[in-house]
Amino acid sequence: MRVIKNGMVLIGQEVLHRDILFDEEKIIQIDEHIQCEEAEVIDASGLTVLPGLVDVHVHLREPGYTQKETIHTGTLAAAHGGFTTIFCMPNVIPYPDDVETIKEYLHRIEKEAVVRVYPYACITTEEASKEVVDMKAIKENFCIRWFSDDGVGVATAEVMHEAMEKAKANDCMIVAHTEDMKYRKPGACVHDSQVNRDRGWLGIPSACESSQLIRDLALTQEVGNRYHACHISAKESVEALKAYKEKGADVTGEVTAHHLLLEDIDVEGPNWKMNPPLRAHEDRMALIRGLEDGSLDMIANDHAPHTEQEKNKPMNQAPFGIVSLETSFPLLYTEFVKKQERWTLGQLVYWMSEAPAKRFGIEGIGKIREGYRPDFVLVDLEHETTIDKTQFLSKGSNTPFNGWKVFGAIKETIVSSKTVWKG
Ligand SMILES: [Zn+2]
Repeated sequence: MRVIKNGMVLIGQEVLHRDILFDEEKIIQIDEHIQCEEAEVIDASGLTVLPGLVDVHVHLREPGYTQKETIHTGTLAAAHGGFTTIFCMPNVIPYPDDVETIKEYLHRIEKEAVVRVYPYACITTEEASKEVVDMKAIKENFCIRWFSDDGVGVATAEVMHEAMEKAKANDCMIVAHTEDMKYRKPGACVHDSQVNRDRGWLGIPSACESSQLIRDLALTQEVGNRYHACHISAKESVEALKAYKEKGADVTGEVTAHHLLLEDIDVEGPNWKMNPPLRAHEDRMALIRGLEDGSLDMIANDHAPHTEQEKNKPMNQAPFGIVSLETSFPLLYTEFVKKQERWTLGQLVYWMSEAPAKRFGIEGIGKIREGYRPDFVLVDLEHETTIDKTQFLSKGSNTPFNGWKVFGAIKETIVSSKTVWKG
């Protein structure tokens, strides 16, 4: 048994002086002063104790792209960023799209991961938008209930409709990267706006995302399945989600830290290039308001590591994506809680833990409560530090936030009562 003593603990929306006693399975007791002789003491003096963060959108790159990241380094990065549960995207090689490959994939994860990992399976074989995978077999064998073709949009309404029917029949969720791949021009690398056109960069229109999202929302309304939209970036997408929620569709959406913090005007080079791109000021404001009014439901990272060599290419050739597991909590805490005082700590942490856990149906995680899993992150909210990409545990250092001054340094991360990272 272990006990966290002398810390301030986030319980619901309140930050209270509490001790927490737990064993490997669960939180046993939360009280003002806990005396337990046989428990190992973790001293949290000066620190705030949060529930372990949950991220439903991570690229671990293994198998297939281990030069970019591995299951081991990616989950270490998660621990370093305060994440105790992550969901990894299936655009790896071989694609986890049938029982055999997934068996092997889960084996690797079990061996290498230092935090809790739930893998997605593909919606279509090799994410090719042709053949919908055998969701029934995948769910029955491995309890995987989340399907995504992240990296690409499912090309046709016909295939997406079939996937939704299967998801509904098997009580699974479709998690969609919505993008009309044919509408995006080759070499397009940023948001399609005047400021980017002036810099000579080819743009990706907002409708690339929103048109396919609107298609999916219409389909999901018809079918009645559960649907979650990845990395919403455009104001039209926020409006569409809001409208379909009002119609009663079972839909949710996520937004990333970088889309909440940066705009097209901030782009300096390939480390600001991601898909979907950083859009205009009014889009960013719509994302913030969307999260606040419930049109959007949670914050996810879309951690997408690449090698420095790949990112050193010119803007139109460098791959899309940035690393974010190790920066998102301090960045969001600093900007929206500390500086702007726009959100409470409890609100931010809700969007990064309880909200995703609830929507993705993982019981017993996402908040600090007796009986819940002993997953914690100990944070120093008071001291300012500088983001230093050379200190990342991820193999990737492709971040636009290097050198930013932040509060909210992660000091210790505990998963199922075990310390998996300590600074
Ligand atoms: Zn994506």
